[in-house]
Amino acid sequence: MQKVLNYIDGVLCPALSGVFMDGHDPSTGAVHVQIAASDGSDVDRAVAAAERAQPAWEKLGAARRSKYLLAIAERITERSELFAEAESRDNGKPVSLAREVDIPRAAANFRFFATAILHQQGEAHFTDDVALNYTERRPVGVAGCISPWNLPLYLFTWKIAPALASGCAVVAKPSEVTPLTASMLAQVCVDVGLPPGVLNIVNGTGKEVGEAMTTHPGIHAISFTGGTVTGASIAERAAPLFKKLSLELGGKNPVLIFDDCDYEEMLTTTVRSSFRNQGQICLCGSRILVQEGIYQRFKEDFVARAKSLRVGDPRDEASDLGAVVSEAHMNKVLGHIRTARNEGGTVLCGGERLHLAGELSGGWYIPPTVIEGLGAACSTVQEEIFGPVVTLQPFKDEDEALQLANGTDYGLASVVWTNDLKRAHRVAHELRSGIVWVNCWMIRDLRTPFGGMKQSGVGREGGLEALRFFTEAKNVCIKR
Ligand code: NAD
Repeated sequence: MQKVLNYIDGVLCPALSGVFMDGHDPSTGAVHVQIAASDGSDVDRAVAAAERAQPAWEKLGAARRSKYLLAIAERITERSELFAEAESRDNGKPVSLAREVDIPRAAANFRFFATAILHQQGEAHFTDDVALNYTERRPVGVAGCISPWNLPLYLFTWKIAPALASGCAVVAKPSEVTPLTASMLAQVCVDVGLPPGVLNIVNGTGKEVGEAMTTHPGIHAISFTGGTVTGASIAERAAPLFKKLSLELGGKNPVLIFDDCDYEEMLTTTVRSSFRNQGQICLCGSRILVQEGIYQRFKEDFVARAKSLRVGDPRDEASDLGAVVSEAHMNKVLGHIRTARNEGGTVLCGGERLHLAGELSGGWYIPPTVIEGLGAACSTVQEEIFGPVVTLQPFKDEDEALQLANGTDYGLASVVWTNDLKRAHRVAHELRSGIVWVNCWMIRDLRTPFGGMKQSGVGREGGLEALRFFTEAKNVCIKR
């Protein structure tokens, strides 16, 4: 059976303990890989290798670091079909989605930061004729990157690329649920001759590896994407060590649909923003708020479209949805649907586990699920579900829409559908979320700040924000 190894000091290796753990194929439920089950001693080795590598990596300069990152992007692109198949097998997502989104974006992350560092500008401030101040930005040192399972390679590289570009050496941990493409990235790094220790990948659980990274004195910054509860635990451990922290956490994103929108475009996009990747994208819209006048029409059309989506083998090009990522996650999502029923919600479609035939019979499938009739305060509307489950709520006017939209502890992304330009600006201004899409969803420009407010996170990724995070600013003041 295929083994997922660590990548430490330029070498692919098992955990020091020699222990492996099972990795599952969500489409069948079968074990398909053996994953190195590392612990703090492997993290120690990785940090030591990174500390040795970091000074030379920084001194190499932006132009030569850029060449390495471009070479990595090139190899990912050359092997994109293999990467897409592996991502689909490990995560349960349709291979067509991995091919279209995950893998091209992983390559784009490297390409973007490889070229961004070639165009950076410095800052200088003239203090009248008294002094000149300039800002020097140097890498924070060894950076820790911890990523989740929903967009495995996409989010892993979204952290690693800016860290490496900035001159940091990196210790990175993919989710133990989906580590396969990270191990293929390690092979790419070996193939392009990335200097040993510049990137180290340590596999294992959050408890063993994630916590050891969070508390390791040799790691000076942690870039984390995952659940809000995990983020809070990382913040609690890292704060006394004064590590820099970037936390990209959960969401409960509202979609505000006003009755003057382009209806067909809104409907098609809202189906996508609800169920893409089985609803397991932090940016999916899970609370659909619809203006009263079009609520009934929208409900009927949306449920019909949701029912027409094909849930099936992730390898089948015709599948719109594949499997959810794990048995535990499937049970969590089904538990939320049970709670919704107990809270008085009406399940308009979906709502139960789907059993497919043949070798897929052990797979973890949930059909698109639409729920209405729930009050704004109930837990189904307040808590992140992170599956193919959305709620519908009517609203009267802009004020009520905003009240509902802003009425959760989260603040990651929002979507607004209206053709009234003034209203679009007003509503975008009032929404308490880090990202607002107007008349679209998931258009991403890697230069823009990415992240959430409230319990959706602290800090921003993307463009300059990421390059700043992985560097320390130093002001030098010279008397004139
Ligand atoms: P998770 O928090 O369980 O795990 C994320 C990563 O943290 C994994 O690698 C895990 O092993 C590690 N980890 C777990 N416990 C840890 C600990 N105590 N210390 C250090 N590391 C630890 O999240 P998940 O279930 O993998 O992912 C789903 C969550 O991620 C959802 O809440 C989703 O909203 C969120 N997410 C957010 C964004 C964003 O950009 N804001 C993007 C994608 C996913």
